[in-house]
Formats: sequence, C-alpha cells, structure tokens
Amino acid sequence: MCGIVAYLGKKVAQPILIEGLKRLEYRGYDSAGIGLMASGAIRVKKSSGRISALEAMLDAPCSNETIGIGHTRWATHGEPNTINAHPHLDYTGRIAVVHNGIIENYATIKKWLQEQGVKFVSETDTEIISNLIGYIYENRAENGSSRLKNQNKFEWAVQQALHELVGTYGLAIMCSDYPEMLIGAKKGSPLILGVGENEFVLASDAAAIVEHTTQAIYLADNEMVTVTPEGFRTKTIDNIVISKELKQIEFSLEAIDLNGYEHYMLKEIFEQPESLRQCLKGRLDLRNGRIVMGGLSNLTRELTRTHRIILLGCGTAWHAGLVGEFAIEQLAKIPTETEYASEFRYRNPIIEDHTVVVAISQSGETADTLASIELAKDRGATVLGIVNVVGSTIARVTDAGVYLRVGPEIGVASTKAFTAQVAVLMMLGIELARRRHLSGDDAKYYIEELAAIPDKISQIFEQNDHIRRIAAENSDNENWLFLGRGFNYPVALEGALKLKEISYIHAEGLPAAEMKHGPIALITNRMPAVFIATQCSQYDKIIGNIEEVRARGGKTIVVATEGDENIRRYADHLITVPDAPEPLQPLLTVVPLQLLAYHAAVHRGHDVDKPRNLAKSVTVE
Ligand code: GLU
Repeated sequence: MCGIVAYLGKKVAQPILIEGLKRLEYRGYDSAGIGLMASGAIRVKKSSGRISALEAMLDAPCSNETIGIGHTRWATHGEPNTINAHPHLDYTGRIAVVHNGIIENYATIKKWLQEQGVKFVSETDTEIISNLIGYIYENRAENGSSRLKNQNKFEWAVQQALHELVGTYGLAIMCSDYPEMLIGAKKGSPLILGVGENEFVLASDAAAIVEHTTQAIYLADNEMVTVTPEGFRTKTIDNIVISKELKQIEFSLEAIDLNGYEHYMLKEIFEQPESLRQCLKGRLDLRNGRIVMGGLSNLTRELTRTHRIILLGCGTAWHAGLVGEFAIEQLAKIPTETEYASEFRYRNPIIEDHTVVVAISQSGETADTLASIELAKDRGATVLGIVNVVGSTIARVTDAGVYLRVGPEIGVASTKAFTAQVAVLMMLGIELARRRHLSGDDAKYYIEELAAIPDKISQIFEQNDHIRRIAAENSDNENWLFLGRGFNYPVALEGALKLKEISYIHAEGLPAAEMKHGPIALITNRMPAVFIATQCSQYDKIIGNIEEVRARGGKTIVVATEGDENIRRYADHLITVPDAPEPLQPLLTVVPLQLLAYHAAVHRGHDVDKPRNLAKSVTVE
C-alpha cells in the first residue's frame, strides 16, 4: 500500500530516498516524507500530496547525510495532511519512525502514554510507535540495559515496544543517539533489505532497491534487522539471532518504464498478449493433453483427492476467482466456491478434510488474503497461492504456488494480472479435470484454444480507436450498467469495477437476468448498459435482456462474437471479439471493457495511474 525506503551507505541519502519514493509511487499514496540523520540529530521534511511537493520544499542535499528513512503514506488513521505524514518523531525528538500497516491497539497505548505525560501531535496510529519506543528508551532502558545481551539500548527499546503492538507493521526506525544505525522490523507488511557494496536499502518493495543492488534478504513476520556501516544482523523481535539467506531480486527496471505509452494501465492492457504467453509458456503439454505447473508438483496427492476448493481474493482477484470457480466446476466437477478474503477471515468457515484453498493476489501482500491463508492453514487446509510478485509473503507462506509471470503490474487498476489469474485458474481446472475424467483429446482442445488466446487479444486492439470513441461519447453519463451471463457474468463485475476505479463513474455489474429484479428501474437513455453477449449457451437469453433495456429507451454497448451479424440491430455500439470456447471467453471479453474504462477516464481528465483514494496493493485491512 504505502511505501517505505531507507538508506544507509556512503552516498548522499536525500536524492536516493526521493528516487526510491518515486519508484514506490505506483503503490498509491497521499503524502510523503523523509528523515535524515544530520550530525547527531534527525531532520524531517514532509508534505501532503505528491512527491514533487515534497521535493519542492527540500534544501540542497547535505553531503554528510548518508543515512535516512522515507515514506509514502496511504492514510488509515488521520487525514492525509502534512502533520500526519511520516516520519513520526517521538516526543524527545530522538526516535524517527516510518510505518506501513495498522496498529490496532493504538488507542489504548496512546491513552497510557498520555497519562505518563507524553504529548502527541498527529492523529496517526504510527505516532504511538515512535513515542512508545522513545518512552521505553528514556525511562526503562537503564534498568533494561543491565539485561542487555547481544543488543544495544536502541534495539532493546524497539523490541520491548514491538511486543506491545497488536496489528501490522513494516518499519524503518532511526535513533539520533545511534547516528550510524538503522532498524527495520516486519509483521504483516512486506520489508526487504537490499544488500549492496558498502550500502543498504531497506524497502517495502523491490522497485526501490534494484537500482542499487539485486541481492536482498526478505524479512519474515516478527523479525527485525539492524543495519550499520559494518553490516547487518537479523534477529527475531525476541532477540534470537537468525541467519537469513541472501536472495537474488528478480525485478527489472525496464519492466517499469512506460515504453512510450501515456499510462502504465494502457501499456499493461497492450502487454496482455505477451504477458499471457509468458504465463502459459512451458505449462501447456499439448502432446499429452496435460498442464505442467512446477509449483503444483508437490501437491499432486492433495489435488487429486480434493473434493472441495475454496478460492480467495479481493477486488479483481475475486472476479478472476469467480471465473475460476465456474471453470473448475464445469471442467473438473469439483464443488468450488469463491470467497472475499475480507469476509472469509472473520466468518468461522467450515474447512473439511481434503479442502484445497487457493489464494489469489497480484502483489502477494494483500492483508485480508494473508489473514485468510493463516486461518485456512490452522484449520488443516492445503493452501495454494496464485501470485505475481516473486518472493512476496503469500508466495512464501502457501504450501505451493503458481506465479503469474506477467512482470510488474504498476497501473493501480489491475489488467494483465487479471487475465493471467484467469489463465492460471483455467490451467488448474483443466489439470484437475484431466486427473479425474477429462479425456486427453478434450484436454488438448482446451489447451490449443488457450494457446490461441494471446493472438486473439491482439486482434481486439484493432478496435482501440473505435472503443475510444464509444467511451468519449458516453463518458458524461454518471451511471453505467455492465451485464453478462455465465462465464461473462464475472467479466461484467470486472468491467464495472474498472470504470469505477479510474473514471469515478458509478457502475454496477450484474448477472444480466437479475436486472429485471430491480435495477431495470434505473434504465434511461442516460444510463449506458454494456452487454457481454458473445456466442454461448445463453446467447438467446441475453438477447432477451438487451431487448428489455432497449424497450425502456436504454442505450446499449454490446460486446459480441466476431461475425455475429444478427446482434448488430440490438446494439447502439458494437464491439467484437474473436470466438473462443465459453470458459475461455472472459480472457477476451474483458479486454474491450478495460479499454472502455481507460478511455472514459482519460476523456474525463483523470490521472489513470494514480486514481484517487486507491492503492495498488492493499496491505492494510
Ligand atoms: N496507519 C498509518 C497511517 O495512517 C500508516 C498507513 C500506511 O500504511 O501508509 O499513517
């Protein structure tokens, strides 16, 4: 969600922190700040709004400031204003903290600290962390330090404070009494330490590290790292020393260039033929009619004997899950349900023996999905992850996983991750079916059709200008409907979500037949209805639904199968997609809806890559 970047090395820290924060911008934020260690004191600069606003208020970088922490905030507690921006200093001005996450018991700790006379300046939950560390450091460290083992006073105070916190955190902390030291700690929010030559970059995301080094350690929950010019040491927050393996970061900066596109979202929409090829590569065994997904090989037994599958996701990942549910049930005949992770985690769900839970998350850091995985594991489920970001928390805590392999997705509105999630679920469905009853020939048919999808998506792009015109013509309507049936019902939900996210137009996605149970009352010529009406088993039914809208003066934008001449007369605007077997159609029909949302947002003058109030990966509850 928000981003942390911290630097300790020989170079001037200020420009490195600002550059790092810019690399994290795509995650979404509302304010930013940096703190620099300046000859035994900490200098903090922060600002609401964009990083450019922060930059504008900075003095020229000081060559002796080679240690610092930086933050892009996505407000959870307190307005996104300058005072609430991070870093937060403690009441003594000695401790500075940047934080990603939410401290759930902040009110209790705040009250207690206030009773001890500690003054607070912000409304954030984060300020209790700096103040608690400061308070413990100031008042208890002398007693505590008689028990110091392999830690110093600063580390000791941090450990004591962390034990009091309930909630999630990724933290970077400095103390002016230790001017050559940086501490990082993690619970529930990602934190990576990039280890370069004589320099270290601590960040919530590899994007802020790769320019400096590709070697890194990934902290696990309840672990901390202390960094000094001499090196780093990792421990648990209980002060048990642990050794962590250095890993190669797999992330290329080129992948986060715009390559001439105006926005990341557009670039990522157009990348889909290639990203899907990467996702499918090496996984389709056409000769034997099998799917080969390395990550699944150690789950062979569980996948073969499972009789219930639960798919978990949030937002777009949930929509992908719904397509997956329909596909797995249809192909493999295994009862499958798709759950919102944010509901599942609090629902006391029933998990019987041989249930396989599949967690879907682009970032691999989605807080609700992570909590649901823990719950499912506690109750004995086998958990599989479908994740894009390599080495992310979900990729590490699941029993097995499949990577999307689509490269970094930077556009806040997910596009190429959605199609890859659907493709992976489709492969899972085919393989599960193959292990049960699906014949080799039937499997080959789906595999061949899946392999043909990337080229078919490229054909849809030929209508980009046409779709842009449709979007422009309709973008001043404040309410839209998206309607689909069967496999295209989740696509209707996804189309509506895309439009809401970036164009701020109110949109509702529905199974088309549900319309007459209420929403039809909304139909006017000011409410475009987008129908996904491709050749499928419910084609005639959906034509009926289109008629119902037209009879009430509604305007229709219809996504239909290429060559379908019959449908022309039902459509005020027609967009076509190549034909495909029903379960695979969402991979095609979603593409025009992504473009429609994109062009509508651009036409309305919005910053598509930085939609208001949204963050890319939702690492808070
Ligand atoms: N909860 C903290 C705040 O509201 C941190 C939010 C974030 O992760 O950016 O300041």
